[in-house]
Amino acid sequence: MVMEQEKEDVLARLKAARMQSQSSTSSKFFWIKDGEKALVRVLRNHQDMVAIRSHRRYNADLRKYDIHAVCAKEFDQECQYCLDAQKEWKLKVKDMFYQPVYVHTKVGEDGQPREINQLLYLEMPDSDGILAGLEGLYYAEDDPKARDITKCDLVISRVKAGGKSIYSVTARHSAPLPLPNDITVPDASTITADVEGVHQMKVIEEDETSARPSDPFAPTSVQDAQPQFTVKEALDMKEPTELQLNAIQKLCKSLDKDFIAPISFGQAANMLRNLKEEFTASLAEE
Ligand SMILES: [Zn+2]
Repeated sequence: MVMEQEKEDVLARLKAARMQSQSSTSSKFFWIKDGEKALVRVLRNHQDMVAIRSHRRYNADLRKYDIHAVCAKEFDQECQYCLDAQKEWKLKVKDMFYQPVYVHTKVGEDGQPREINQLLYLEMPDSDGILAGLEGLYYAEDDPKARDITKCDLVISRVKAGGKSIYSVTARHSAPLPLPNDITVPDASTITADVEGVHQMKVIEEDETSARPSDPFAPTSVQDAQPQFTVKEALDMKEPTELQLNAIQKLCKSLDKDFIAPISFGQAANMLRNLKEEFTASLAEE
């Protein structure tokens, strides 16, 4: 009986967890299924779309993107995926395009409209069907000054054809539905921050050798060095520490060697390593 109760709990929790994860990934972005359409109003003009450098990796077995992250360089940080992309071409950084839309309604396969009344983002790789549709509408106007896709409502629909999902975007010629008075069109930095909230960036972890300052081999301020230097170069620019000098002097004395002061942290670390080896060897001989 107890077992039965536990089983139910775990299934209820699984269901809740799935619903939560579904809503957390889909709550910010616009999506429709095959056979559905939506009535939307694009909030920024086509040339004001926001491009965000991103890393995405499609996993064919899972049939989804197992990595999707905003490139940390968008926030002036060192990006782990840029580093990983040097070995894995699939992770190569690419622009994703974002456009805020106010979604009035969605119409399902049954033809019944459902009120959505929500500001969402279109998330589009460069090959996206909706992006191509928006582009088509924008350039359909001959006069460059008159090109504006924010002035009327658009119908975005998705159909299955030849095993593929095809999107189409058409302008609705009747007067656009009113937008809520309190709607704020998000600016580029708000959009970037919102997207990062879902597709979180991965900043390069600091060199682990800098985490143990009590170790005389460990650099204490590698992170202060200019990022274009290698760790070795940075160490060679840094002064040797008291701790290193004392240890070298002590070892030289016990090995009966002349003490020659090292000129850099890196050199001191090397000397210390060699002296320690020599000292260990001399102990073994005795
Ligand atoms: Zn990156």
